[in-house]
This record gives sequence, structure tokens and C-alpha cells, in this order.
Amino acid sequence: MMEPRIIPRAEHPISRGYIDPDALKVLYRLHRAGYKAYLVGGSVRDLLTGRTPKDFDIGTDARPQDVRRLFRNCRVIGRRFRLAHVLFDGGKIVEVSTFRRRPDPEDVEPGQAGDADLLIRSDNTFGTPAEDAVRRDFTINGLFYDIATFAVIDWVGGVEDLEQRLVRTIGDAEIRFREDPVRMMRACEFAARLQFEMTPAVRAAIAENRREIRKSAAPRVTEELLDPLRRGWGAPTYRLWSETGLLHEIFPELDLELRGPGAGSGLFWKMLAETDRRRGGGERLSDAIILGVVFLPLLFRAIRTRSGGQVDAQKLLLLLEDVVNPPSARLSLPNAAIHDLKQGLFTMGRLAELRPGDPAARRLVTKGYFPVAVSLLSLYAAASGRYHEAAATWEDLLKRGGGRTPRPGEDLRAAIPFPEALIPHEVHPGPHEIGFPDEPQAAAASPRRRRRRGRGRPGQAA
Ligand code: ATP
Ligand code: MG
Repeated sequence: MMEPRIIPRAEHPISRGYIDPDALKVLYRLHRAGYKAYLVGGSVRDLLTGRTPKDFDIGTDARPQDVRRLFRNCRVIGRRFRLAHVLFDGGKIVEVSTFRRRPDPEDVEPGQAGDADLLIRSDNTFGTPAEDAVRRDFTINGLFYDIATFAVIDWVGGVEDLEQRLVRTIGDAEIRFREDPVRMMRACEFAARLQFEMTPAVRAAIAENRREIRKSAAPRVTEELLDPLRRGWGAPTYRLWSETGLLHEIFPELDLELRGPGAGSGLFWKMLAETDRRRGGGERLSDAIILGVVFLPLLFRAIRTRSGGQVDAQKLLLLLEDVVNPPSARLSLPNAAIHDLKQGLFTMGRLAELRPGDPAARRLVTKGYFPVAVSLLSLYAAASGRYHEAAATWEDLLKRGGGRTPRPGEDLRAAIPFPEALIPHEVHPGPHEIGFPDEPQAAAASPRRRRRRGRGRPGQAA
């Protein structure tokens, strides 16, 4: 194997002062015990680009059992992929993984190997640092920071790609995506959150292999779907997923609505951008709220097309079941969040028309999903410029302590109808335009150009 590029301490910006003190303790103890001890993965990428890492993962040549012997507060977890968790005060966990390599073909389960099927199923073969670098997904995620020398070790060209602002797979993009199709979602997510470009090879490989995402386990796909929303870069990520055709494979109901010319899609992007803005400002938004934002365009569509814009409470509850249940089951979305999001979407309409003094409102404010409904109305108001006053009134009530913890299964049939005025009208009713990057009609839609123009402020373009 080639030699790595070594970037000495004087030539990179990573200082120990930026590394979590507990992660530093783990690095030093491994090092003093004679093991290699590297900061790996996202933390090195984030520190090199001046961002705050979410977590500080450690790579070492110590085996999980060796790690456990070194740390009293340590447990070894995982069956297929065993790694050590070192536990600290306040529930903090520092993850320590032994260097691994990509599995050999003979590690693939019998009867499942073959050119057509590269899907990795087992992933627990120990390896060298170089092998550990190249089994990672993208060059920007394959960098190491060595506690012995304070140098950055680059086996994969990651430093250069960070400078060039490129998301590039390590090795052949087609192969890497077929091994693990979730990497296609991650490519878009990293491009969106870092405001990097995917290399042409990555774009082409996604266009070619996007259908492979259906082979990935639903919980992993769902985690990827929720993660950018939870962390404040939902709008640019969903935009890229939609542009690349991935969203069409994962969540066709949503993608069809977003690609269509209806007003619902403009509102969706604005609500997502507002959700991101609030997350960026440190506001807490539950999964029920962020999923509510995702399902709202589908609900509006169902109300428009299936009841001509008019719904009573009974009908709305039925539509909600129809709209929310199939994707939730397919994607195995978290049940508690689904319950609250349905109730929240339902109640959002009531809040638009009621005022806190109304008798009908009195019971509502005690419901667990009340805060979900208020947040959804508030996001809707910020995105649409309507119902500001109602949203502000309820938010104010909530701040003064109007909500409580959820109670599942509450009966909503006594509720008043969903106000018609809430539902955006379709601007240009007509058939959906669907075009993907590898298909001829895509040129007309030109989603890439639109994205570039909005690049300075991702998620703002609607
Ligand atoms: P984040 O800030 O979102 O945590 P991250 O880069 O740390 O970003 P993780 O999902 O925490 O992302 O993964 C940690 C590291 O593990 C990645 O940086 C990458 O090196 C590697 N990795 C994660 N997922 C994959 C995958 N599907 N295939 C190959 N390597 C992966
Ligand atoms: Mg991470």
C-alpha cells in the first residue's frame, strides 16, 4: 500500500484544546499502554473545517477486550461489529473501535456472493490503520489525528478534498454504493450540510444505483431521514435527495408532492428552512414536530384532492390515517412520534381558529400533543405569513406552561373542523413533472442550477 500523507502539527489547525477532555483521556491511556490511538472519522473532518464535532470517535489497534482491560468504566457492545464504549459522567460515551478492513468476499454469507450483489452483511474483520481508512465511506471521513505525534494522517486524499470542498467516495463510487446504499443518502447529506459538491462520479453513481436503497434496512434509512431534520440541515439535504432521485425511491409520496407544481411544495421548503433556522438557534423540536412538517404537504394534498378542500373532523382523522400510516409502516417510523404527529396535525387546524379563552380550547392545552400542534402552526405561520397572531397567542400560552407529557389514544372526534383557509391552493394544477438526472427530461427541470444559485444560503430558495 502507498504511504500516507502526513500533515504535521504546525500545518493543520487541530489543537488539543478543541478535543473533548474525556476523549483525550482515552487517547492518552491507549497511547501510554503502547497502542496506536487516533481520533477518526467525522471529528477530524469537523475540526479541520472549524466545526464542532458531534462526537469524538477513537480508532486503535487494541482489541475490544484489551480496551476493556484498560478502562474500568467500559463495556464491549455489538455482535457483528464489536466495539468498546468508555463511559463518563453525565452519560457521555466515547466510542473506541479497533481498526477494521473491508470484508473479504469469503466473509459474505454463502449463496449471497456474486457480482450482482455486493451488499456487505458482516463487517468485523480487524485490519491495519490504512485498511481502516479505506473501508470508510468518503475521503473527508477517512482522516486520522494521531495523539502520539499530533499529526493528521491521510491515506485517502481527504485533506485535498476538504480544501476542494468535495464529497468523493473512497474507491469506486458504484461499488461503494452497492456495498451499502445508505452511503448515497450520506453523500447528499454531507454535501448539503458542509455546502460541498459531490464529485461527478458520485452523482452519476447515485443516478445509476438509487434504486439499490430499497435493499437497505428500514431503520437505517429512517435514521438518515430524521438525522438532518433533527440537526438543522433538513432543507438542503431533502432538496438534494429529491434532485438525485433518492427521495423518490425512499418516500415517493413526499417526493411526488415536492416535484409537483402545487403550492404545497413551496410551503414545505419554507417550513423546512424555518425548522432548520430554529434548530440552528438551539430550539428543541421533537421528532413528532419535524415529521409533522414532512407529512403536512401530503395531508394538504389529500384534503385538496380527496375532499375538494373541505373536511370535517371525522374525515380529517381518516385522511390522516391514510396519509401517515403507509409510509410510517414502510419506513418503520417511531410509533410514539407518529401518534403525536397525527394528533398534532389534527389539532393544528383547530388552533388556527380557536383562542385560548374559548371553552373548546381549555381541554386542548392539557394534551401531550398540544406543543406539537403549536410548533406546527408556528412553523406554518412563519413559512406562509398567515395565522401569525394565532400562532403567537398559543406559543405564548405554551411558554407560560400550557403543555404536559403525552397520553396516547385520546379521542378527538368532538373537535371542530380543519379550517379550509389553512390549505394552500394549487398554483398550477396539472400533472407532476418528474425528471431525474439520468433521464432526458431532467434538463428542463434543471434542479442543479437552482441549487447553485441558492448556495450561499442553503434551504432558503423555495
Ligand atoms: P456526524 O457528524 O454525522 O457524526 P460522522 O462522519 O462522524 O458524522 P458517523 O455516522 O458518526 O458520521 O460515522 C463515523 C465514521 O464512520 C464516518 O466518518 C465514516 O468514516 C465511517 N462510516 C459511517 N458510516 C459509514 C458507512 N455507511 N460506510 C463506510 N463508512 C462509514
Ligand atoms: Mg459521528
